[in-house]
Amino acid sequence: MNCKNCNTEVTSNYCPNCGQPKNVKRIDGHYIIHEIEHVLHFERGILFTIRELIINPGQNIQNYLSENRSRLVKPIIFIIITSLIYSILTAQLQIVNLLVVLGLLVIPFQQSVKNGLQK
Ligand SMILES: [Zn+2]
Repeated sequence: MNCKNCNTEVTSNYCPNCGQPKNVKRIDGHYIIHEIEHVLHFERGILFTIRELIINPGQNIQNYLSENRSRLVKPIIFIIITSLIYSILTAQLQIVNLLVVLGLLVIPFQQSVKNGLQK
């Protein structure tokens, strides 16, 4: 049997050339839940990646570039998921508005609108 990805002869459960499984799993509810769990998993998932990048950003990026790419979530997926989390948090909890109210964040446009209304 040949690999469906790279057409190399496959004698075990995985392709020796590209690592594609010999039998591709059916994409169903179980598969999708497993994929989501895989991304969110604290040991090797998005939370682990966020923690590692906060604690030791330089060393982790260096390791990712030169040695181990399976330890952290891939950069594009990381950006998409953290942007999604940020968008949901700011929309649902209105963190930006809270920061403005607390005076921790000044939005120049909003400030000028406020000043304009007061005159
Ligand atoms: Zn292959």
